[in-house]
Amino acid sequence: MATLEIKDLHVSVSTDDEPKEILKGVDLTVRAGETHAIMGPNGSGKSTLAYAVAGHPKYEVTSGSVLLDGEEVLEMSVDERARAGLFLAMQYPVEVPGVSMSNFLRSAATAVRGEAPKIRHWVKEVKEAMTDLDIDPSFAERSVNEGFSGGEKKRHEILQLDLLKPKFAILDETDSGLDVDALRVVSDGVNRYTAGGERGVLLITHYTRILKHIAPDHVHVFAGGRIVESGGAELADQLERDGYVRFTGSKETAA
Ligand code: ADP
Ligand code: MG
Ligand code: MG
Repeated sequence: MATLEIKDLHVSVSTDDEPKEILKGVDLTVRAGETHAIMGPNGSGKSTLAYAVAGHPKYEVTSGSVLLDGEEVLEMSVDERARAGLFLAMQYPVEVPGVSMSNFLRSAATAVRGEAPKIRHWVKEVKEAMTDLDIDPSFAERSVNEGFSGGEKKRHEILQLDLLKPKFAILDETDSGLDVDALRVVSDGVNRYTAGGERGVLLITHYTRILKHIAPDHVHVFAGGRIVESGGAELADQLERDGYVRFTGSKETAA
């Protein structure tokens, strides 16, 4: 069974003067079929976790490891991570002017599958996935993320999940900027992706809203660069009621 293991992960970010430690020992295991929610106040290091696992050059892993089915992810290039079955959706997706969505997705699929999908099959595959996600067909010809609304960027992420079928997906603030309808479409997409029990999701979110649509098996509270408490869905309910005050002393709400 596929497993993603994060072990005692320490990560620093280089600012102008000196490196600052942001992640201070993160331990987390996600197994195929599981949905884990990471919840935490602003600035607690949630995105840093996603960037570090993605291999973003600004985030330096100073110790610890990330194992995908026993293989060290931290030694892989960004492409190798994707080929190994990791998918990272970023809180602020990059725009790629001049590259159409359709070409971008085909290149990504080629990288992940090890061979280029046959054009005829590919067009059909993309069309079906776009229909499932209520995406307008003209989307395929637009430049990657350029001028996309918040909702469009998120649908694009889920479209990639549908087409690339990674083993593990890390979704950072997938709920932000979505209206109720888009939230439902995106959540349905994530639920489709995990149905069947062969894939795992790490869902990073500040707010409990998306957890009404995507039921997490495990909920973790992130504060000060580490997981400070873990539980089931009831922990999200408690955060919705009480906010993060018990963990941070601040009145930041989670609802
Ligand atoms: P969250 O996603 O939980 O809001 P982040 O991981 O974005 O938290 O940020 C955690 C801390 O790391 C914050 O203090 C933030 O300012 C700092 N940080 C994150 N990324 C960078 C960066 N690229 N440069 C400088 N500081 C950063
Ligand atoms: Mg933030
Ligand atoms: Mg963040």
